[in-house]
Amino acid sequence: MSIKHVTVCGGGVLGSQIAFQTAFHGVDVRVYDISQEALVKTKAALELLPHRYQHDLHATAEQAEAVLGRIMFFTDLREAVKGAQLVIEAIPEVMDIKTAFYRELAGVADTDTIFATNTSTLLPSQMMEATGRPAQFLALHFANPVWIHNTAEIMPTPKTAPQVFDQIVAFARKIGMVALPLHKEQRGYIINTLSVPLLMAALKLVVEDVTDPHTVDKTWMIATRAPTGPFASLDVIGLTTAYNISKAAGDRGNEVNIAIARYLKEHYLDQGKLGVASGEGFYKY
Ligand code: NAD
Repeated sequence: MSIKHVTVCGGGVLGSQIAFQTAFHGVDVRVYDISQEALVKTKAALELLPHRYQHDLHATAEQAEAVLGRIMFFTDLREAVKGAQLVIEAIPEVMDIKTAFYRELAGVADTDTIFATNTSTLLPSQMMEATGRPAQFLALHFANPVWIHNTAEIMPTPKTAPQVFDQIVAFARKIGMVALPLHKEQRGYIINTLSVPLLMAALKLVVEDVTDPHTVDKTWMIATRAPTGPFASLDVIGLTTAYNISKAAGDRGNEVNIAIARYLKEHYLDQGKLGVASGEGFYKY
């Protein structure tokens, strides 16, 4: 059965983009967030997107403007998920917040509604019991920005029903994503499993004073024909995120990562150099 009614829970950076992308492909979308103040921010983010879709995807003005008319906003969870075939959760990356949310959601959603988490770093099996419906729960992971990096990594828990998995693969394709199915759980999915070790290896070369960021990027770009190198990617991702990842690995006892976290903090974070978003990171923007 094709999915036509979707509720996105959490209208932040990713939730607003997921809502717009879904509505752009003709699906009715409801956005739920915890307060009217949060929804004001969601609406402001959404209003910027018609222009981006026209510029980046060559959508017509009529197509892009019509999308906002297919999105409704709620602060009452029961109302927000009434009749939804799919709930996409994009709330903060904090396990206790997610599990509390799923317990509440389980009490108000229709029994046949599928739940999907957009978590970046947690495993869906860590939340599946809180959903009250593990067979109808899985991860559907979007990248930022959704309409340009249009990958959808789809990852089941050991309890996800195969037909639910297939329905979400079909849904992802329907909303213009390239569906990337994983057969089982993997922390970091495919993209981050590949990219995080590369980024950390690049930082290690610099922290240990083997070479400098620009030489690393030049080497990578010439050798692999990639358009950018790891340090340019770090600037896009944001150096706060890079710091958090290396700090977490450092806290688990990895000494190289302790040194990387210290280096990022002293040379970049403490000086307000956070990457593209702040105008300077390893490069100036
Ligand atoms: P964000 O902080 O921008 O947005 C979170 C939203 O959730 C906010 O609008 C907040 O008001 C709302 N919220 C907080 N508690 C809530 C609750 N109990 N119920 C409903 N809404 C609640 O976060 P984000 O960057 O959009 O990330 C959301 C999820 O998407 C995270 O799991 C993150 O790992 C994942 N993700 C983020 C990115 C990214 O680039 N930002 C990329 C892929 C996946």
